[in-house]
Amino acid sequence: MPAVIRMKSLFDRIRGPGRSSRMATASKTDAPEPGPQNRGDSARLRITEIFYSLQGESRSVGIPTVFVRLTGCPLRCGYCDTEYAFQGGEWMTIAEIVTRVAQERPRYVTVTGGEPLAQRSSIELLERLCDAGYEVSLETSGALDISGVDRRVSVVMDIKTPASGEETRNLYTNLAHIDANDQIKFVICDRTDYEWSRAKLAEFDIAGRCEILFSPVHGTLKPVELAGWILADRLPVRMQVQLHKLLWGDGPGH
Ligand code: SF4
Repeated sequence: MPAVIRMKSLFDRIRGPGRSSRMATASKTDAPEPGPQNRGDSARLRITEIFYSLQGESRSVGIPTVFVRLTGCPLRCGYCDTEYAFQGGEWMTIAEIVTRVAQERPRYVTVTGGEPLAQRSSIELLERLCDAGYEVSLETSGALDISGVDRRVSVVMDIKTPASGEETRNLYTNLAHIDANDQIKFVICDRTDYEWSRAKLAEFDIAGRCEILFSPVHGTLKPVELAGWILADRLPVRMQVQLHKLLWGDGPGH
């Protein structure tokens, strides 16, 4: 069976309610062992920062949001702007994280990284945040299994382009677990990346199934160029620029 048809069939088996009932299966990753992984509120995660800011990208751009940035990532994208999250951080229990988030009295919470799913207890953290009534999103590289992520979470999943240097890490089986509440993001460095991304939309038939985000790499590809390509091709995608970088530039806390 051709790979494209096989993927479409996987994608068509969109799950019924209850993503939370399926725990993530172990993915092949070179992520460092994050440490103790206990169950319940005493489970611990390594946290780089928790802060309140404006959502800088995705369909919630501009909305005040609490960000929980987990430490560590098994990838090394050439354009990474959060290398400070690769190491260090502070161990916090899920109870401590939820308490810290509550102090900001948010409606929206984004769990990001690094790569949050490199720490297995991130699955439980996401469930707890949903249970607390927040609108929760997860930013993930697309290289690790998302099948255990609570269905209430809006997954913002990258598909890594060639210029990222991590194209081979894309776990395309994840597409079977993406639904209309989720978002797929292509971070685009140049025309080659753009054409590759456009081809992936067709190959996996993903346009229209969920929000598709095309984002130029800040300082590498002029937004106006990407905008022109999208319009010329009439692509059904949302183009975005990183609002937080326009407002505050690079660095932690935004
Ligand atoms: S997946 Fe994200 S955090 Fe990890 S290296 Fe790539 S851009 Fe950086």
